Amino acid sequence: MIVRVLPRQPARASLVTAGLIGAMSTLAAIQPLLAGGGHAGMLMIDALCIVATTIGYLSMVDARRRYAASERARRDGLTGLYTKSAFFEMADQIDRHTEPVAYAMVMIDLDHFKSINDSFGHAAGDTVLEQTAQLIARSVRLTDIAARYGGEEFCILLRDCGAEEAARFAERPVAEASQLTVRLRDNRMASFTMSVGYACRGGSTGDGVRATFERADQALYLAKRAGRNRALQAIFTDSPLVEQVC
Ligand code: GH3
Ligand code: MG
Ligand code: MG
Repeated sequence: MIVRVLPRQPARASLVTAGLIGAMSTLAAIQPLLAGGGHAGMLMIDALCIVATTIGYLSMVDARRRYAASERARRDGLTGLYTKSAFFEMADQIDRHTEPVAYAMVMIDLDHFKSINDSFGHAAGDTVLEQTAQLIARSVRLTDIAARYGGEEFCILLRDCGAEEAARFAERPVAEASQLTVRLRDNRMASFTMSVGYACRGGSTGDGVRATFERADQALYLAKRAGRNRALQAIFTDSPLVEQVC
C-alpha cells in the first residue's frame, strides 16, 4: 500500500513514514525486553506501532493527493501538455543556472485552424488539437518542456539543443502533420498543416528564455508570411532578424 501511494516527488510525509516504520521495526525487535514479558506492555507497544504507521500512511496519501492536484493545475485540460504559466515557470529556472546552457525555443501554430472549426465544428477542432499535442509529445525528450501556449499555438523548449538538432526537430512535426489525416468522431477525415518558428540560444552568450521565445515567435510570423506549412529559424546577424528557410 505504501509503495502504491508514494508521491513521485519525495515529500516530508514519505520521510515521516519511513521514520515511523523504522521506529516500529525497532520497537518490535526490542518489544520483549521493554515489556518484560508482560502481555499488557506488549499490547500497548503494538497499539502505538499501529497508530504511528496509520498516521504515516495517511499523511503520505495526503501528500500524493496534493501533488496530483498541483500537477493537474499545471496541465492544459484538453491536450495534457503544460500550461503557458507552468511552461515559463520551468523555463525561467534555466536562466537562473550559473552555467549558461544551450537550448532552443520552438513555436508552433496550426495553419488556417479557424477554417477547420468552420468546416467540421469545434469538437473536430478539439480533436485536431489533441492529435497535434500527441504528435508533439511523441517527438520531445523527457527533459524538454512542451506546452499549449493558447488556442492552436504550442511552444517547446528543447534543452541542450544546438542549431542542427533544433532544425531537425522543427521540421519533423511540420512533415508529420502534413501527412496526417485525423479521423473525427463522426468518421470524417480532416487534414491540417502547421507553421513553426524556432530560435537557438548559444551556450556561452545570448539572450535568456524570454528573448529567445520572442525570436522564435518572430520566426513563426515569418513562416506564416512565407506561405505556411514550413519551419523557419530566427538567426542573429547585423540586421535585426533574417529568414532562413530550413
Ligand atoms: P493562421 O494560419 O494565420 O494561424 O490562421 P488561423 O485560422 O489558424 O488563426 P486564427 O487566429 O484566425 O484562428 C484561430 C482559431 O483557433 C480561432 C479559434 O476559434 C480557434 N480556437 C482557439 N482555441 C480553440 C480550442 O480550444 N478549440 C477549438 N476547436 N478551436 C479553438
Ligand atoms: Mg494562432
Ligand atoms: Mg493558426
